[in-house]
Amino acid sequence: MDGRALAARVRGEVAADVREHGEVVLATVLVGDDPASHLYIGLKHRAAEEVGIRPLDHRLAADVSEDDVVELVAELSRDERVDGILPQLPLPDHLDETRVVAAVDPVKDVDGIHPFNAGQLYLGRPTLVPATPLGIMALLEEYAVPLAGADSVVVGRSDIVGKPIAHLFLQANATVTFCHSHTRDLRAHTLRADVLVAAAGSPGLVRADMVKEGATVIDVGQTRTDAGLTGDVDPDAAERAGLITPVPGGVGPLTIAMLLRNTVRAARYRTGLLAFPRAEG
Ligand code: NAP
Repeated sequence: MDGRALAARVRGEVAADVREHGEVVLATVLVGDDPASHLYIGLKHRAAEEVGIRPLDHRLAADVSEDDVVELVAELSRDERVDGILPQLPLPDHLDETRVVAAVDPVKDVDGIHPFNAGQLYLGRPTLVPATPLGIMALLEEYAVPLAGADSVVVGRSDIVGKPIAHLFLQANATVTFCHSHTRDLRAHTLRADVLVAAAGSPGLVRADMVKEGATVIDVGQTRTDAGLTGDVDPDAAERAGLITPVPGGVGPLTIAMLLRNTVRAARYRTGLLAFPRAEG
């Protein structure tokens, strides 16, 4: 499954949406010196600029106080010029991510991680949904993979990938199984999957003999190894799978494309073009 081609198309659509909407601003908050986080923020800014979204870059020292981070995020939440807010995670250990994320106005929560948006998804009324699961759904739709009635297995239960994709599958009427580090006999579960999502961050965790013949396999894993960026699924699984995403070039490019799409969605919510179901409303 070619994530790059679909991502390019989505970015083209987002660029047209931005031209139609007028200025769209994405504020990012980067704390500390983690090289991977710096790399990701750089990629997001470049991708934003390419579609006409204006990035607002906030960088804070690694030893900043939690109150100062929360105050900056709260200020961006109040700022009428800002459409989307993205605190780059993970934050340094001394900062409470829950408190920082809670300071993001849910209407500007382009990562879909505020409890309000997570709750909306849980209730089957998705608003702003994390980008990686949205990218997976776009790929499945592009390749016309049926979900209704399908046995789906999600390996990993993070708030940003595993849990939200499982909820989207449930809403698409799939039968959903979660697997995680306490799962006994992972293979017994994965072998039943018509649609298998591997999001554990453990290279080669899903071997070829763990994949059902003809299954659709979505490899979310991205681990840097000596061999380069490596997924969770052994590449030999391609011989058994009906459809499979490569790493790199599968889910990764769609994640950024969907973040951009979420930013335009947030701009439409903020300016009233789309109705945002506020908790108090
Ligand atoms: P995470 O927070 O790192 O958690 C990993 C999950 O996998 C946990 O739920 C863990 O179980 C489970 N797990 C770990 N080892 C396992 C094993 N041996 N068997 C079964 N389950 C196991 O997850 P994440 O943030 O979603 O990241 C997962 C991977 O996706 C990483 O490689 C990350 O880099 C990648 N990722 C890629 C993209 C993209 O755009 N392509 C986006 C986001 C993440 P427990 O809950 O029991 O600990």
